[in-house]
Formats: sequence, C-alpha cells, structure tokens
Amino acid sequence: MSDTNLPARVDAVVIGAGGLGASTAFHLAKAGLSVALVDKAELASQTSPRAAGLTGVLRADDDMTRIATLAVDMIESFEADTGEKLVFFQPGSLKIARREQDEAQLHEAVARAGRLGIAARIVTPGEAQGMMPYLHTAGVRAAMHVPKDVYLEPVQIPACYAAAASKRGAALLPNTRMEEIVTQAGAVAGVRTDRGEIRSQVVVDAAGGWLRLVATMGGADVKLVPTRHQLMITVPLPKVQPMQPITRIIDSNVYVRPDKGGLMLGGYEPDPMQFDMASLPPGFRIEDMPLDLGVLRRLADSVAEQFPIFRDVELQEYRGGLPTMTADGEHVLGAAPGLAGLFVIGGCCVGGLSTAPALGRLLAELIVTGKPCLNIATMAPDRQATTSISEETLHHKAQLHYSHHYWWPDTLPA
Ligand SMILES: Cc1cc2nc3c(=O)[nH]c(=O)nc-3n(C[C@H](O)[C@H](O)[C@H](O)COP(=O)(O)OP(=O)(O)OC[C@H]3O[C@@H](n4cnc5c(N)ncnc54)[C@H](O)[C@@H]3O)c2cc1C
Repeated sequence: MSDTNLPARVDAVVIGAGGLGASTAFHLAKAGLSVALVDKAELASQTSPRAAGLTGVLRADDDMTRIATLAVDMIESFEADTGEKLVFFQPGSLKIARREQDEAQLHEAVARAGRLGIAARIVTPGEAQGMMPYLHTAGVRAAMHVPKDVYLEPVQIPACYAAAASKRGAALLPNTRMEEIVTQAGAVAGVRTDRGEIRSQVVVDAAGGWLRLVATMGGADVKLVPTRHQLMITVPLPKVQPMQPITRIIDSNVYVRPDKGGLMLGGYEPDPMQFDMASLPPGFRIEDMPLDLGVLRRLADSVAEQFPIFRDVELQEYRGGLPTMTADGEHVLGAAPGLAGLFVIGGCCVGGLSTAPALGRLLAELIVTGKPCLNIATMAPDRQATTSISEETLHHKAQLHYSHHYWWPDTLPA
C-alpha cells in the first residue's frame, strides 16, 4: 500500500537530496517536468552540508574549467534564477607553488584563464600575504590569484535548490528510502520505496556515497570509491576577515579559508580511508563515519612553514563526509550503461558541491533536450574508467587522484 503523500506517477524521480540531486530536481522542475526528490535521510543532511564550500574555476582542462565557471556564474545569479537567497563571499583564491613544477602549473593556469576569458594573475609572495595575513611567505616560490572564486556555507546549495524545486511543484520526500528500481521491457518504469511505489520513466541516481549501490539496483555498474575527506575550523582569530581568499598549497594538497571568524583547513592525505557501502549497515549515515583529527594535524604540519598558526591553535569544529572518487579523476554524469531511463550524477572527486549548480543543469538539459549547453563527454558513465577496470586498479587510481588533488594530471606519479 502506498503512502497517500507519495505521488503515484511523475516525469522524473531523483534519488538523493544532496547538492547534486537537489540541483537536478530544480532544473528538471524548471523545465516543466513533474519531479519527486527522494532521500532516505533528511534533505541536505549527508555529505553536502559537510563540504568546505570552495569553488575553483581554473581546472586542468578547458571543458572542466568551463563547467566550474558556469557553476560560479550560477552562484552569482542564484537568487535571480531560483528566488532563494544564497549568501556567498567572493574574495577569489590563491594557489601557492612551493616547487618548480608547481610554478609551471600556475603559468599554465594563467594562460588557460587568458584563453577562456577568466581573470587570473601571478602575484608576488608579499602580495599574497597582504591578501591572506596568516600566510607566511617562507618557502613560497610563486602564487596565483583568481578573483572569481567564491566560498559559501555548503548546506545552502542543496537546501535552496530543494526549496526552489518545491516552489516549482516538485514533491520533496525526506526519510523515504528507495529500495528497488522497477523495470519494464528493459527500461525504467519507476521506483519502489519503503513508503510505496512511484511510477516514472526517468530515474536519476544522485545518491552520493551510495551512487554505485543504487545504480546496481538498475543493473548498471558505475565504478567509484566513497572516500573519507575531513576539515577542521579554528576558534576565531584576530586577523581573520571574510574577504580573505581561499588559499591552496599545491604540493601538500591543503586548503585554507576564513570561516566563522577562524580559519578552516582541509586537505588530501596520502592514505585516505576508502569505504565499501555494501558492507555497512543499511541505516548507516554520514554522522556515523569515524573521524580522525590526526589526519588533519599531519596535513597542518605539512604547511607549518606557511601557516604556523595551525600548530597549537584551538579548534571550534571538525567534520568529514564521503565524496566519491573515480579512477580517472573525472565526474560521472549522464545515462547509466545498460538501462534506458536511468541517469547518474556524482563521482565528483571532492568537487561536487560547488559544481552542483552547473552539473544539475547539464544533466537536466541532457534528459529534457538531449543537448547540454557544455561538453560533458569526459563524464560519460559508460567510459572505460568507470565500467571495465578491476577493483584493485579502481581503488589504487582513486587513491592516487585523491592524494594528489591539486597536482595536474601530467605531474601525477604512475
Ligand atoms: C570535508 C569535505 C569538504 C569538501 N569540500 C568541497 C568543496 O570545497 N567544494 C566542493 O565542490 N566539494 C567539496 N566536497 C565534496 C562535496 O561535498 C561532494 O562532492 C558533494 O556534496 C556530493 O553531493 P551529493 O549530492 O552527490 O551527495 P550527498 O550530499 O551525500 O547526497 C546524497 C544523498 O543520497 C541519499 N541516498 C543515498 N541512497 C539512497 C536511497 N537508496 N534512497 C534515498 N536516498 C538515498 C543520501 O541520504 C544523501 O542525502 C567536500 C566534501 C567533504 C566531506
């Protein structure tokens, strides 16, 4: 028997109300589709609200740079586009090179920015320190400033998109677990949830850490690895101001930004904890994930010359979640292999919160018109890296991409 609050039939069911699912649901509803946004937990409650909320518009290739830039354009025009108020800060970002090869990355990035019409410039270590007073210049070879980058309180992305989707008629269904993808004649026919069935010819798997599990219910194997990522926030510090830039140190894969009057530090350790969601109890939530402050302290030590403030400082918060890594460091977005009507969006390699505005729009365009406004070919879910590699290679490569997050692909170890 179905719950009477459950819609019997919709044009599209979106599984997962994190940043990616909520953005997709909003863009589908905006295009005129009837939508159900289903989450087994509260809306906007799992990995997305635990993110650092940083954008990075300059990426290692032109396509991803265009997508990340569209996402920031959409953050800038969020209220006009959705009707929901979004608070964000736009101090830009600094990227710091401590090694010769990373200095080359900065020059390549500035050249790409010039080609694509994005402002970016090399600044002296002294200028960088002027923007971010807790940055010490010792060991800094070069720095780049990208004024367009923003940071924000992450929960706003899924919460505001869910609210905006609801105002366009989408049914919001928190605490509703999707248990089966119903198929008919080799295509999606709906979903069965613990509250009843919803008929639909389109199902979007935006299940975050659970994406692979959900895709498997539709017979599709989309290979990615949920990987623990953490950050910490200091108590308020006298010289911190909100308009100080996000600061990333390339070789140590560490980021710092102002937050709640203190400084946030997060980063990418060499040996992250990888998760197999199938082995966890069905009721597992992100808040059940064990955290390890030691990982963050070691990351802070790796940048102690530039950020000595983190040595003995008191913390007000630390947190973590389960973003998903792929073997080639690219997202997955598009039709799932093997089942007509099933789409996936995820595998964002710790970048899916800030790109969610653009990624949700691109997937909605693919579903509704077949023609996304930007090239998404590298994210194809049926590519070799997400379908036909061994589990051993998947875990090894996923770890490699995680632990060298700010290194560009041509500098990665084999
Ligand atoms: C500490 C940290 C810092 C980060 N910093 C950044 C950053 O600065 N910038 C950035 O862009 N990204 C960042 N990320 C990554 C970002 O958080 C993720 O890429 C993004 O939030 C993924 O969103 P999602 O919607 O896929 O996942 P989630 O937010 O986890 O949403 C998935 C949802 O699916 C639901 N679900 C799963 N299975 C089912 C089912 N069977 N039925 C119903 N519902 C289901 C879950 O309950 C969950 O709510 C960070 C992550 C962490 C942990």
